[in-house]
Amino acid sequence: MKHKKKHIKLKPKKQSQFLNRKMIKKIENYDEQIKENCELKLNMISKNNQEITQLKNQMKKSELEPIGLINLSLEKSINILRIKSWIEIYLGLEVKILNIQLALYYENNDFYIIDIDKNENYKLKKDNKDIINVFSIFEVMRQVKPKNISSLIAIVDQDIYDPFQPEANIVGRAGNKKVCVVQVQTEVDVFYSTIVHELLHTLGFGHCNYQDCLMYANISTSMQLCQKHLKQLSHLKKIEELKRYKELLEISRTIGLNKECKILEKLIENFETPTKSKENVLL
Ligand SMILES: [Zn+2]
Ligand SMILES: [Zn+2]
Repeated sequence: MKHKKKHIKLKPKKQSQFLNRKMIKKIENYDEQIKENCELKLNMISKNNQEITQLKNQMKKSELEPIGLINLSLEKSINILRIKSWIEIYLGLEVKILNIQLALYYENNDFYIIDIDKNENYKLKKDNKDIINVFSIFEVMRQVKPKNISSLIAIVDQDIYDPFQPEANIVGRAGNKKVCVVQVQTEVDVFYSTIVHELLHTLGFGHCNYQDCLMYANISTSMQLCQKHLKQLSHLKKIEELKRYKELLEISRTIGLNKECKILEKLIENFETPTKSKENVLL
């Protein structure tokens, strides 16, 4: 009995074990199928998500708000349309010349900015040598800055000073909340360099250690950006390097940036004959 019982008992157990194993295997297989399916779906979802993020980023890039430009200088020779084109080519971002009637004027020993549309006068701070505190221009700019623009640049022809370094002879300054001021310069290289340098500060660019980079703290030896900063710029908007250099060369010729034209011609030449440039690097 013992034996029999054992046998009887054993049989169904074996069977059940067998069945179980079979079932488990089936379940395992099924599980694996589900798992695979899930993984496939998860992969698809993450891929979709990646595509969505990429699309979102692309949209962000293409929907990047334009840069605002205001001319506060009295100098008639200032070609504001040329400045607009220069910024657009250099940064690859749209520039809007703002339709705000602002004028900077001097009266009874003081400087003012008048907003003609709103008939509002803003008194600017200055030092005893009649040099304007650039921060007081920033304050006005922040008040008149429209919402649909990213950075705002103002061109002035008065001397400006930075209260944080009053002894420094500054040609431009960027403030927070994406505003910057550039003073008209007789040296076109310095003037046009400063315009993009200050705007890049408002777009989050810091200073560079390379003297050849436009983001060098002092006047740089070239108006071009180093590779690191060029890459940073391409994060804002995709850059077609050769096309950009060619357009920069064209506008640099129009402006009369003679030294820069030579640098750009070399850059373009290196692009068009890559093997030759490699040899040059090796030499
Ligand atoms: Zn700077
Ligand atoms: Zn740099």
